[in-house]
Amino acid sequence: MLDYIVVGLGLSGLAISRNLEKRNKQFVVFEDSSQRSSLVAGGLFNPVILKRFTLAWNAHEHMKTAIPFYKEMEEHLQAKIVYPIEIYRKFYSAEEQNNWFAAADKPLLSEFLDTNLVKKINACIPSEFSFGRVRQTGIVDTDVLLNEYRNYLNKEGKIKFERFEYNKLQIKPDSVEYNGISAKQIIFCEGFGMQQNPFFNYLPLRGNKGEYLTIYSEELQLQEAVKSSVFIIPLGNNLYKVGATYNSKDKDPRPSKEARHELEEKLLKLISCKYEVLDQSAGIRPASNDRKPIVGRHPKHQNLYCCNGFGSRGILISPMVSAQLIELIEDQIPLPAEIDLHRFNKKHFPA
Ligand SMILES: Cc1cc2nc3c(=O)[nH]c(=O)nc-3n(C[C@H](O)[C@H](O)[C@H](O)COP(=O)(O)OP(=O)(O)OC[C@H]3O[C@@H](n4cnc5c(N)ncnc54)[C@H](O)[C@@H]3O)c2cc1C
Repeated sequence: MLDYIVVGLGLSGLAISRNLEKRNKQFVVFEDSSQRSSLVAGGLFNPVILKRFTLAWNAHEHMKTAIPFYKEMEEHLQAKIVYPIEIYRKFYSAEEQNNWFAAADKPLLSEFLDTNLVKKINACIPSEFSFGRVRQTGIVDTDVLLNEYRNYLNKEGKIKFERFEYNKLQIKPDSVEYNGISAKQIIFCEGFGMQQNPFFNYLPLRGNKGEYLTIYSEELQLQEAVKSSVFIIPLGNNLYKVGATYNSKDKDPRPSKEARHELEEKLLKLISCKYEVLDQSAGIRPASNDRKPIVGRHPKHQNLYCCNGFGSRGILISPMVSAQLIELIEDQIPLPAEIDLHRFNKKHFPA
């Protein structure tokens, strides 16, 4: 009998699986490529919310776990995955600049916000006001990370590239059975795909569609990520990602004309040089109503778990939260109440 079945290999399933490997647990992953959030992500890690210059939820703790986690994945997979990159926030008013200084004075933010503002960062990005630099930021190449790990698991015989059919799952008192595979427990990591999961689709997970353009520009010559109404993220070889959009109504997984229009409109206001759009990608972010992860044990079935709700910050959140779920199952360490899915029990499983 296996220890675990894992459903989904996005950032959540990857962190869960790597944790299980380190504990020498026997497991198999199911992955059907139905969701693309992790694959299309910009991959930025950034502890600061750049709209209001506030610290992202638990950013210090998440950074401490996430960066070593991805570095270790680089070693494990012998692939380059983590790229330090500076992020510059473009200011639109003197008031915004003042707010930056006020935020940088706060103890938890001071290490991340550079108070030496920069007047000009690039000939193609004109600005009336300065730019503020965020420290300790970078990019995780999710495409390389996920594809290399999927290849590795495939070689180990630990992944099946097929849809997990929920109606074939048999739940027994101390185990689960699926298509002839027995396991002590099952962890669902399907991102927005959780809406199809009859055991966990009562949870308030709403999708938020995000889209990026990939552009080519010889003139731009930008080495840093720039944040204004959109991000420009350098990819090397004169290629850049531009985005992302946020749309909580559109659940069509394909790229849309509306998003292309919105992104180009914003880009034209930001840069003054020529570019060519080469590609457009889309994914649905698995976002929760209260903006916290949704993690834990099913209220009725003790061997069913879910690890989801990472919203727009899966890079930083997934390593720590996944480790906390495995600690719950293996070491009986309770989850922090703010991420535990039991916070929704009152409504759906009244005592
Ligand atoms: C455009 C965009 C940009 C983003 N940029 C960033 C960023 O810069 N930084 C950041 O931190 N976050 C970013 N995010 C958010 C981040 O991508 C998410 O938080 C993260 O990807 C969620 O990971 P997940 O594993 O929970 O879900 P997913 O990535 O959706 O993974 C779920 C996996 O489960 C599989 N699956 C689902 N159902 C089944 C089934 N029944 N059987 C088998 N397999 C199944 C899917 O195919 C998928 O591979 C971005 C998201 C988008 C859309």
